[in-house]
Amino acid sequence: MASSVSSDSTKALRWPLHTRICIGLVAGGLGGLIANAALGGNNPALKSFVAEFAEPVGKLFPRLLSMTVAPLVFASLVLGVAGIGDFRKLGRVGAKSFAYCLMISAISVVIGLTLVNTIRPGKRISPETARSLQERYAKDASQEVAAAQKGKSSDSALTQIVDTLVPANPIQSVAGKNLNLLHLMFFALMVGAAATVLPEEKTAPFLKALEGLGAICACLIDGVMRMAPFCVACLVFSNLALFGADVIRAIGWYVITVTLGLGLHLFGVYSICVRVFAGLSPLYFFRRVRTIIFTAFSTSSSVATLPTTLRVSEENLGLPRSINSFVLTVGATANQNGTALYEGVTVLFLAQLAGVDLTLGQQLTVAGMAILGSIGTAGLPSASIPFVVVVLGNIGVNPELIGIILGVDRLLDMCRTVVNVVGDVTAAAFVARSEGHVLSPPS
Ligand code: ASP
Repeated sequence: MASSVSSDSTKALRWPLHTRICIGLVAGGLGGLIANAALGGNNPALKSFVAEFAEPVGKLFPRLLSMTVAPLVFASLVLGVAGIGDFRKLGRVGAKSFAYCLMISAISVVIGLTLVNTIRPGKRISPETARSLQERYAKDASQEVAAAQKGKSSDSALTQIVDTLVPANPIQSVAGKNLNLLHLMFFALMVGAAATVLPEEKTAPFLKALEGLGAICACLIDGVMRMAPFCVACLVFSNLALFGADVIRAIGWYVITVTLGLGLHLFGVYSICVRVFAGLSPLYFFRRVRTIIFTAFSTSSSVATLPTTLRVSEENLGLPRSINSFVLTVGATANQNGTALYEGVTVLFLAQLAGVDLTLGQQLTVAGMAILGSIGTAGLPSASIPFVVVVLGNIGVNPELIGIILGVDRLLDMCRTVVNVVGDVTAAAFVARSEGHVLSPPS
């Protein structure tokens, strides 16, 4: 087997990879908070250190990982579909994944809405604090509102689905500034499906080449992950050094509501899921996915974490590639339980703050929108914000209020991305077991 990014594979180095990434995270986080407390987020020297050094070095990590996403997803999906080999099985895997994701997302939104109605964070913030935060982030909020309005489409729902899924030109879909993962997936699924109906001698050389491409990407990811501890320290430092720690205090109840909900979903719901649906001990499961958790936390991007998710879940949990490549890739963009919870809580928090009392029916509508919105939210940093802006407008709350939460968004993004990515792995584990695969026994 190729060298591994998993914790077990770094024996040559003194500490396992996940421990070194964790040290990087803690060192960067503490360093950032101390620098923020000592110098203040507006200190020119701190700002220039972050802009000239910490940010570029930190960005290197998600960028290098993202660099491998397009070739890796294409190779894994084509091989995965060709490996599944029959359309009925593919349809079954797709239907199970979809049903599981919908059910788990619904649970996450219910947790979020229950907490927000119980804690009522929007009623615990003074109007002066709300006003000053809104003023502080007014410029960013206006940009978000303008961007969300620009993204609105007047096309019919079906036209939008076709445009979202089917690429007119797959090369363009991967060549743009932002990789269009759904288009790439659709194209790869079609290529894989075509490969299953052609005679083997015609497709074998192509599939062999894709195996080579997959192995090369794996080798690249291995190298990138070795740099992870240092890059992660810089990434977290730059996020926290300029971050207004005072913003956390100001909207502390909101931050507590979101993180409590995410924690309950991550450690409560997923533990039950892996025990019941995958037959794994939750402790064993969480130990095996540590590298995925740290990568998601530091990159705030399900898509940038995807290469790590694919490899670690195959090597550490024994998830078969044929299932993994499909479920995890779709999951990186469509299964976002943490995002669904976050979107629901945020909309209700801002509605409470604005004094808009939503009826149960309206809250259920927000819940449904949050579930659908999370499916449509890209697996990128801060991708939820445009959705929250649109829903606020729909329920009669001033969308500019988004400014109130922008100061803590990065921190909450790190947390919800962990929940999103771990949710994908639980989905893949459930589907793999239900298809008769035996997952790795505890070692
Ligand atoms: N950053 C999240 C992810 O990549 C998406 C979001 O909620 O903003 O999964």
